[in-house]
Amino acid sequence: GQARLVVVGGGFGGASAARFARLTAPEVAVTLIEPQPRFITCPYGNLVLGGLREMDTITFGYAGLVKLGVRVVQDRAVGIDPVARRVRLGGGESVEYDRLILSPGIALRWDAIEGYDEAAAQLMPHAWIAADGAQLRLLQRQLQAMPDGGVVGLAIPPNPFRCPPGPYERISMIAHWLKRHKPRAKILALDAKERFSKQPLFQDAWRALYGGMIEWVPGNVDGRVVQVDARARVLETELGTRHRVDVANVIPPQSAAAIALDSGLADRSGWVPVDYRSFEARNAPGIHVIGDANQPGPMPKSGFIANNSAKQAVASALAALRGAPPPEGVYFNTCYSHVAPDYGISIVGIFRPNADGSAVIEDRDGGGTSPRGDLPDQRRLEAGYADAWYESITADMFS
Ligand code: FAD
Repeated sequence: GQARLVVVGGGFGGASAARFARLTAPEVAVTLIEPQPRFITCPYGNLVLGGLREMDTITFGYAGLVKLGVRVVQDRAVGIDPVARRVRLGGGESVEYDRLILSPGIALRWDAIEGYDEAAAQLMPHAWIAADGAQLRLLQRQLQAMPDGGVVGLAIPPNPFRCPPGPYERISMIAHWLKRHKPRAKILALDAKERFSKQPLFQDAWRALYGGMIEWVPGNVDGRVVQVDARARVLETELGTRHRVDVANVIPPQSAAAIALDSGLADRSGWVPVDYRSFEARNAPGIHVIGDANQPGPMPKSGFIANNSAKQAVASALAALRGAPPPEGVYFNTCYSHVAPDYGISIVGIFRPNADGSAVIEDRDGGGTSPRGDLPDQRRLEAGYADAWYESITADMFS
């Protein structure tokens, strides 16, 4: 009969995979399993905090995919049987597949920072998984309610985590908003790391645009938050320094989403090891794990990579159904960040799997970051490129 491709997760990886499969292999039946009726993108969520965007402009429905012939099932995958090739859903139904693509994103590690559990996240939002948008709205409301002269504290996790430049874009967008609405406020960014993505570009821009508003504390200078008191709004570091703040955005360490852990696909790192030629899970042939849930090697956990790996996984799955090897893989990433409305910066990377698919090698001659210096035209152009990227990738997922 008709070959069946099942996709779990309708975000950057999953929606891209479902759409690409329908466009390139109309003979294959595609089912997408996603519990949320609408998808809110994490990309451009920081721009909502900055006052540059409204929530509804980063919210998408699945009607475009339905129109393309994807069967969209609004439910949660709760179990995978890789032998029977069956996905069990929360509602009790089971869906059989010939090939499975899994792109469920991340889970937050509630055991990693003492005192930071799901209840604490209602007081100290993470806003790092979009879901129904409640976390982002909570953080936005807290910023609006904060007194001028107050302190916004961020706790930033060690590598690897979703979107390496994301916390620093968030700092920038909060600073942009505060500069206009609460100019005496401060941002205290407590980081578990000593270095971060596009660091010189971000720090140049912070100095130029936001003066002394932003203090970034690296891990080797007591930046690592190990405990919180959500009611007292205290962030406590490794060396026992207690920072009382007015708004706390705690971005905890992460792992692959629950379904990847529960079905035994992840290893002890908390991420799923894959063959980088096809994104097939190392311990489960026939299941391609894409997006943030896999062990990315040098690739960032980005929507851009999720979209790229979706296409490689679909092409590999279709090839496997014909008994053919995966096509040659080459993966691209560009992560844009807004530091102000007309001020964009970017990092580009090009990656290829090695011969046996056990690793991904970054192309040393390709890629790079935006140049440093006082370059207002370049920054304005890149802010525009970022908007164009956002329009095109969301169209490549949902249109
Ligand atoms: P997601 O996009 O999160 O999709 C996962 C989907 O799976 C969700 O819809 C979820 O509901 C669903 N799901 C989970 N469990 C199940 C289950 N059991 N059954 C069925 N469905 C399930 N990336 C960029 O490239 N550029 C950017 O500018 C950028 N900015 C960012 C800014 C912020 C603040 C953040 C937090 C992230 C940003 N990212 C950016 C990263 C990007 O959001 C992620 O890398 C991307 O979403 C990963 O795609 P994914 O498919 O793995 O997960």
